[in-house]
Amino acid sequence: MPAGRRPGGGGGSYKDLEATRLMCPRCRVAQPVRRRLLLVLPSGEKYSYTCAVCGEEVGSKLEKGAAEGVLWRP
Ligand SMILES: [Zn+2]
Repeated sequence: MPAGRRPGGGGGSYKDLEATRLMCPRCRVAQPVRRRLLLVLPSGEKYSYTCAVCGEEVGSKLEKGAAEGVLWRP
């Protein structure tokens, strides 16, 4: 079982966007995550992040999409 890399190194990482690591409650260590589109809202898209190793959901995030610019005028 590879446990060589230590998390939080930070230096010359160029693909940080998709190489996110989150603390997995089942693995009890920070694991690489997979992003899954959960639902699309007017305010953005909701993604769920699951552990790439065991599949446990480790978090979710709302990303603002291109649907911005809709101004609500009173
Ligand atoms: Zn896990």
